[in-house]
Amino acid sequence: MVENWNLVLFVCEAVLYFAVMTALLHLRHRIGLGVFLTALGVMHFVETYLAAVFYVSLPFGVVSPGSSVFFAGKLMMILMLYIQEDASIVRQPIYGLFLGNLVTLVIAQVLMLHQTTEPAASQVADMGFLSDMGLLMLWGTTLLYVDALGIILLYERLGKFLPRRAILRFGLSGAIMLSFDQVGFYALLSQLYDAPAAVLWGGWKAKMVAVALYAGLFALYQFVFRGNGALQSRRPIRDIFSDLTFRERYEDLLARTGRDVLTGVYDRSRMEIEAPRLVRESLRSGVAISLVIVDVDHFKSINDRFGHLSGDDLLRQIANALQQGIGADDHLFRYGGEEFVILLPHADHEQALSRSRHVCAAISETIRNRAGEAMSISLGVATAPEDGSSFNILLAEADERLYMAKNAGRNRVVGRPAEQAD
Ligand code: GH3
Ligand code: MG
Ligand code: MG
Repeated sequence: MVENWNLVLFVCEAVLYFAVMTALLHLRHRIGLGVFLTALGVMHFVETYLAAVFYVSLPFGVVSPGSSVFFAGKLMMILMLYIQEDASIVRQPIYGLFLGNLVTLVIAQVLMLHQTTEPAASQVADMGFLSDMGLLMLWGTTLLYVDALGIILLYERLGKFLPRRAILRFGLSGAIMLSFDQVGFYALLSQLYDAPAAVLWGGWKAKMVAVALYAGLFALYQFVFRGNGALQSRRPIRDIFSDLTFRERYEDLLARTGRDVLTGVYDRSRMEIEAPRLVRESLRSGVAISLVIVDVDHFKSINDRFGHLSGDDLLRQIANALQQGIGADDHLFRYGGEEFVILLPHADHEQALSRSRHVCAAISETIRNRAGEAMSISLGVATAPEDGSSFNILLAEADERLYMAKNAGRNRVVGRPAEQAD
């Protein structure tokens, strides 16, 4: 009887906690994320206090709402924050909780040096509790830090096996991390308070019940605010929220967009995103990177003589040949009409020239127009850091050399002028 009543209260606490915290998270664009983060931090005190001394009997064992409802809830909230925002945001409460707890711990040690007075006979400072709580906090804080990072990594890792199954991943990563946490936390409780083994199992079951509840509420939240339910949110948050984490959404978007419809190679928008980053990374790590710009020779006359469809077909063949001619680490983009840009990470100028000559020869040997005449391309090559230290400078330099290749008779590669070469 008492146990069932306790279970009802337990569920109420979990629902209340989840509803309030989710509402604060949901409203972060209106009221600021600080409200959610502060509430999360404040709850830490009651959680630690309850986990130390407040135990109730539930149908499946003796448990503390502190380590089930509140601790499990906090971990799930950290994961929700990560799913809705990204790593740079979620590390704020993770670091904040860690550092804040360390400060609390140090202050507790100083407080214990006080000679306290007792305002009333019943109000006696519990020094033993203060000292235990210090330890409990230190241990709990360390565990929380590991748990918070662990749950995020797990959620990400599970995404490989269960893509777009957000609720299942949410529940699974919570269950695994909280099982780990329960073993760790019990180890200290048994040291400090001689907690019996029943506390380990009871606590574990309570955490699993809490995770199941939170996963169910998370599902409900998704259902309601992702446009399937009656209570549709009209605010942009609905668009931001998705089954996928921020990084996954970004990668998903990249994989699906940025392809040129005609040739299937990456398009200019993808180049604008990736190429500057590739150049920056190479410069930062001190390795060479080369850029090649390719323009098909006399292409306009192909269209004029054989029609645009025939021109399109040739463009596809040329793009294909370029793709075949570059390495697995190299990047091919369609820059414009019949112009392509190739990025060759790790290739110094000599290597880039030799690979470009190879591709140039391959095209003129294998690609024929409808009249059986050989097609050809012209290429301009520039290499960082010697020719410039940004993508745009390299592009301009390579373009100038492409122009020189055209003027020199086409079907050739032009690199750095001899007098500039080192
Ligand atoms: P050059 O050797 O000097 O490069 O001569 P060109 O005729 O190739 O001159 P330019 O590069 O200026 O001309 C590009 C032509 O490519 C213009 C356009 O007719 C054609 N073109 C651009 N995009 C496409 C396309 O998607 N499909 C087809 N069929 N033709 C295209
Ligand atoms: Mg052109
Ligand atoms: Mg051309």
